[in-house]
Amino acid sequence: MSLQLYIHVPFCEKKCHYCDFASWESPAVTQRKWFETTLEEIDRAGKQWTGDRKVRTVFFGGGTPSVVPASFLEKILVKLRANFDLSSIEEMTLEVNPSSLTNDKLNAWRQLGFGRVSLGVQSFDPDELKLLGRVHSPEGAQAALELLASEPGLRFSGDLIFGLPGQTPERFLQNLEMLLQYDPGHVSFYGLTVEAGTMFDRWHRDGKLVLPDGEAYQAMYSEGVALLKRRGLHRYEVSNFSKPGKECLHNQGYWRDAPYLAFGPGAHGYDGVRRWMNPHDLEDYLRWGEQGFPDASREWDELDAEARLAETVSLGLRQAQGFNLVEVELKHGIRFPVSVFEKWETAKCLERVKGSVRLMDEGWPLLDEICADLLAKTKHPVVV
Ligand code: SF4
Repeated sequence: MSLQLYIHVPFCEKKCHYCDFASWESPAVTQRKWFETTLEEIDRAGKQWTGDRKVRTVFFGGGTPSVVPASFLEKILVKLRANFDLSSIEEMTLEVNPSSLTNDKLNAWRQLGFGRVSLGVQSFDPDELKLLGRVHSPEGAQAALELLASEPGLRFSGDLIFGLPGQTPERFLQNLEMLLQYDPGHVSFYGLTVEAGTMFDRWHRDGKLVLPDGEAYQAMYSEGVALLKRRGLHRYEVSNFSKPGKECLHNQGYWRDAPYLAFGPGAHGYDGVRRWMNPHDLEDYLRWGEQGFPDASREWDELDAEARLAETVSLGLRQAQGFNLVEVELKHGIRFPVSVFEKWETAKCLERVKGSVRLMDEGWPLLDEICADLLAKTKHPVVV
């Protein structure tokens, strides 16, 4: 299977209040150190990698890749091309925030070959943006979307968050309606989770954040899905929606067991058997580079048979296409007894179509519960 490459750009203009990603507000001198270390890390991976070098997708994520100079992105791409085969690449994505998008930057990224932009909008409501700690205004997000929508041939996605403190389903749907005015071919929306160690975590524990109740949360999700469906964007993964042919190939690769190499602090790689994570903190990552990127300083995870099966089931169910029973049998040597699915089929939450098991409309809000139930039952599958 072709390779995917991910570059983690760990810098942001300002840390958002809900964010626990590997991202920091750092001066130019630190950004340069990250850039130089990443170039070396790519060279080292190029020497070590023994798998297929044909690259299908490249994704620059973060952090905020749009805050670093385009010359850094250019040199990283040159380095990737020197080590891997990017001649038949199908998708190159850049994550962008509205406050660091300009016409000049967009032109430079286009010249470098980026054909897809993922824009972190999160909300169009000034109070919600302030609460989240975002640096852009509603007008800034609108201007950024206008610029992206006017760029010929560019695919772009808008990201929103729902389930914000004090948010109602109506307010979330207004955000979604506003985004749809710019006709993005792709939309992602994620429910807010309060992550440990963030400002939101502190406020939550102090009782200063009142999150929507379960009913309002579910209404935001299901009404959001329905609105997108009416506008021609289908749910291809629990949080991702697109017009036909505009799905994010890079993320699909993650859900479909493609191998990927990832560069930068906290970046995760996978060679088809093992997963690993680079040192998470920026200082640790830079020091790791100075030491010659020893494997022992990475976190490693070799999945056993049970964990691999669980991953196939859970990643499959997250996608509209579900998981295929023949593929499970070939890959894991396991055949599910039909009785495993009966409860959810009777409840019209799950269906089997042409050998695949997939969620039905009623099942999506119960994804976690269904997944846990099936996984509990995978403890007693038929070994082929
Ligand atoms: S812009 Fe994104 S990565 Fe940066 S702090 Fe905000 S949420 Fe985190």
